Amino acid sequence: MASCDRRRFITYGLRASALILASASARAACVDPDEMSGSVQSMRESLEYTDSAPDASQACRDCAYFKPVKTGDSCAPCEVLTSPVSASGHCVSWTKRS
Ligand code: SF4
Repeated sequence: MASCDRRRFITYGLRASALILASASARAACVDPDEMSGSVQSMRESLEYTDSAPDASQACRDCAYFKPVKTGDSCAPCEVLTSPVSASGHCVSWTKRS
């Protein structure tokens, strides 16, 4: 009986961990991909958007099209992708903020 309880405890623990990781991943992604329209998803793909810029000096936070409400926002609308993007993201339309 004790091993059954332990197995159940481990199963619930793993499920809870998976939910926490999924939630953190959704936050890291800034926006739930399932909530984006097909055209927005296509635009993100065609412009090779990624949540993590390969070159930190060309991250969305320093792009002219990134429009945070306040300085330091980790997620803000992008005028090109017409959807929220991560401050640490990047796409091929990156343009240095002047
Ligand atoms: S245009 Fe590209 S690099 Fe610039 S904010 Fe939008 S997604 Fe980021």
